[in-house]
Amino acid sequence: MRSKQIRRSLYLSGAAGVAASTVAAGMVLPAAMAGPSEAQQAGTGQDRARNVILLVGDGMGDFELSAARNYEYGAAGRLKMDAMPDRSTVTTYSVQETEPAAPNYVADSAATSTAWSTGVKTSNGRISTTAAADEDVPTSMEMAQEAGMLIGNVSTARLTDATPAGAMAHVAKRGCEGPAQTTRDCPQDATENGGPGSIAEQSIDLGVDVLLGGGADRYDQNILAGEFAGQTVAESAAARGYNVMRDADNLAEAQLPVLGLFAGGHLPTELTGAQAAPGGVDVTCEANPEFTDEIPTVDEMTDQALDLLDRSQGNNGAAKGQPGFFLQVEGASIDKQDHAANPCAQIGETVAFDRAVQVALDYAEAEGNTTVLVTADHSHTSQIIPAGDTDSPGATATLTTADGQPMKLNYATSPTTKSQDHTGSTVPLLAFGPGAGNLPALIDQTDIFDIITTALNLP
Ligand SMILES: [Zn+2]
Repeated sequence: MRSKQIRRSLYLSGAAGVAASTVAAGMVLPAAMAGPSEAQQAGTGQDRARNVILLVGDGMGDFELSAARNYEYGAAGRLKMDAMPDRSTVTTYSVQETEPAAPNYVADSAATSTAWSTGVKTSNGRISTTAAADEDVPTSMEMAQEAGMLIGNVSTARLTDATPAGAMAHVAKRGCEGPAQTTRDCPQDATENGGPGSIAEQSIDLGVDVLLGGGADRYDQNILAGEFAGQTVAESAAARGYNVMRDADNLAEAQLPVLGLFAGGHLPTELTGAQAAPGGVDVTCEANPEFTDEIPTVDEMTDQALDLLDRSQGNNGAAKGQPGFFLQVEGASIDKQDHAANPCAQIGETVAFDRAVQVALDYAEAEGNTTVLVTADHSHTSQIIPAGDTDSPGATATLTTADGQPMKLNYATSPTTKSQDHTGSTVPLLAFGPGAGNLPALIDQTDIFDIITTALNLP
């Protein structure tokens, strides 16, 4: 089959860099990734899923999860996702652009989204293109569509931001989100030079059945060449049958395909509060007044996307009873608020993302043949340090948790005048449903591609 052949040849040639995946390394695959074992066939008979829902908490490492759990439910409490039956741990490193055989221990969302979307490691900043060679690599979302399935992409960020982009576009630089940025930064990808265009253009060209998130500013840029030259990307989407929506009011009645653009940029966070600061601050979290009733929550978007995918007939004619769907959902601003050293907004987005996981689990339990995967793209800055600690050189903030106790968060990967940095730890993968059990204790992010394509029986 096309993409795996391409992938193998990339590994063999070394063009894709370090062959860290258990698959690429030629190791024996666990049953969950190798297809149905005799035990599985004799047991539930459920090693293939009709649908896969992949939920990604951007920057949601174990510190972010622990902080949200402590704050919202207490130290002995549980997030919704904590009840998922299977868990593995994921290495997230990327590779170096100029030396793709060498690892880069701290990845960004572009390289990580490429990793699970394509099974190939790339350098930071690339969207489903290879390091150095700049070759496009097919994604699981594209493969699912080719197999007749419906596809969806939901994010609290711009839909053209790196995490959603990796599933549905191929550009050399993550900043090439709209036509104007692509002309400037990715001339080889620009439509006026015969390329496939920006991430926004490619998402519509691919015909993603459900697109819900922010990023109207990118979709409202003019296309510069080709059939739709002079129209905005959103106008070209409407011309091709998309229901383009600027609020979520009529989402329930919409027919596919749907492009829901609920903010010019990223969606606002649900909670707000003071930033951490050197010397420490006491913080009380409050509802963010910018998060108005007009803006759907991530769990509402997930619910709507599942409803649309479940009941609708899409571009490609797949109806209920036919091949199912692949939906990716991103809780984006855990990362963005970690960068901003804003504990309330970071925690609020983690808790909101956890509600979206519950929506996916509820759907999967009712539907009976849906696999839910929950992971993070990379780890991040925030640390829980002793509440009495006054010696941290970083920015700190103390919050009162559900236990009624002080919890001190420390942000110290950058000076407080700058954005905090990603970190290089492993992240969790939680799993529920067919084809996702019996995971080994440690996998690589590229293995998530194999889990998804195997569960969906993609060629
Ligand atoms: Zn980030």
